[in-house]
Amino acid sequence: WTPMPPPSEDAVAKALHDVFGFSGFRGVQDQVVDRVLHGRSTLAVMPTGAGKSLTYQLPAVLLEGTCVVVSPLIALMHDQLRSARANGIRAATLTSADADRGQTMDAFRAGHLDLLYIAPERASQPYFRDLLQSARVGLFAIDEAHCVSEWGHDFRPDYRLLRPLLDAFPQVPRLALTATADHHTRADILAQLGIPEEGLIVAGFDRPNIRYTIRPRENVGRQIKAVVDENPGPGIVYAPTRARVEQLAETLASATGRRVLPYHAGLDPEVRARNQAAFVASEDMVMVATVAFGMGIDKPDVRFVAHAGIPKSIEAYYQETGRAGRDGDPSVAVMFWGADDFARARQRLSEIEPGRQQSERQRLDALAGLVETAGCRRAVLLRHFGEQPAETCGNCDNCLNPVGVVDVTDLARKLLSAVYRTGQSYGLGHLEKVLAGLSDERIQQRGHDRLSVFGILDEQEKPLLKGLARALQARGSLVPTEHGGLALGGDARAILKGEASVVIAIPPKPERRRRQRGSD
Ligand code: ADP
Ligand code: ZN
Repeated sequence: WTPMPPPSEDAVAKALHDVFGFSGFRGVQDQVVDRVLHGRSTLAVMPTGAGKSLTYQLPAVLLEGTCVVVSPLIALMHDQLRSARANGIRAATLTSADADRGQTMDAFRAGHLDLLYIAPERASQPYFRDLLQSARVGLFAIDEAHCVSEWGHDFRPDYRLLRPLLDAFPQVPRLALTATADHHTRADILAQLGIPEEGLIVAGFDRPNIRYTIRPRENVGRQIKAVVDENPGPGIVYAPTRARVEQLAETLASATGRRVLPYHAGLDPEVRARNQAAFVASEDMVMVATVAFGMGIDKPDVRFVAHAGIPKSIEAYYQETGRAGRDGDPSVAVMFWGADDFARARQRLSEIEPGRQQSERQRLDALAGLVETAGCRRAVLLRHFGEQPAETCGNCDNCLNPVGVVDVTDLARKLLSAVYRTGQSYGLGHLEKVLAGLSDERIQQRGHDRLSVFGILDEQEKPLLKGLARALQARGSLVPTEHGGLALGGDARAILKGEASVVIAIPPKPERRRRQRGSD
């Protein structure tokens, strides 16, 4: 068969209006749709909420043949299916959860479907290729395309099975879609899916209505309570483990008087679905959740996202905080981090397969850079996604309350020497005493009062030591030992030799909060 000429601009605008009810395109949608309608393979990198679905659903309606959509999660597919059908689009899913698979295949072969959603593992099955051969495919859309890349934060081997299938239909254009892809991952997606470099379209990543704040963790229950109290609208609190979710949900419920529900994979699916539905419908609820919560949830008025610990990467941070303020109204993202978060994450590095360690380490270093910066948070985020943002944004903690920086390389060398000379097995408390020249029984017994590092700390260096230790752990120059001590790691030797420097933000004065009796 010969392809139809691409539809006219008028036909596109009419379908946009009549099928989807939109008066125009947003951002890069028109560029993406235009390429696809001209049969050109494309990788669209668009942040969450930018309207990725439209870029394949509109061509699905206009192009001859069915648009086959690869999507990693059945729940996500069924959400998409519902909204497509609500717009009168002829859509179906072909998953293990669908009892009507036979009917769907018949409709597909007969050319009665605009959209067919499939899971990637199906792509390698011979019957599926035969099925596609017996129908007419107008477009392959690959959703969450970062799953194809080992550089991405969510690699799924099944996505690697797509290439042979795509190559079996060389005349069908490919549209890969993702919200989160750094440089490496983008290049990898293009290569893995056989999309030309000129097919890359990247939407702006800035979310100007989100105010970013990142703070060291002190008393996380109280810190998050303050965030909840300041933001009366709906919000999400991310906690690292199920136990922490339960615990925080309880604390917040009693401390804030707000409606607070937990969400994590250990809950009964029914309870989970109920809590999620309650949150979506609510105007003031707080959802305390693991990262299992949020994918594919369409709630535009989330006013805050708080993190009780570090996310997995900058990509994950961007995606998780991006669930705030999709309606464009002012919203906040607040993260509380501890040196132990990084220590644990770096420890986990040694447990993953060697081939992926380097990329994971870079991911963690980038995150440490975001957390440690005294500069604009938004600028760090946007630069990470390949943009060239302004130096300041006026809407993050560091822009609103500029912090100074101090070069603490000398102090870092003192601390690292103390770690080294005491045998890399003591915690910060002991090291601080040694450096400050405070002798006690333990120090005398070990002979640490006779070391060259004993008492070399200057008075004005004392207040910087804790922040420095945190920074060194975030960047991996100090790593925890099994017994709670500190050992040298990463670039510690370079720092000791004077080949690397250490700069930290001047720590803010301790916040004095008036505490009411019995309030916690
Ligand atoms: P993504 O998948 O990129 O996160 P969605 O496809 O779910 O985003 O779209 C986000 C929201 O934006 C949806 O509510 C959708 O209806 C809306 N939307 C998409 N395109 C447009 C448009 N051109 N005009 C108005 N609203 C749009
Ligand atoms: Zn800023």
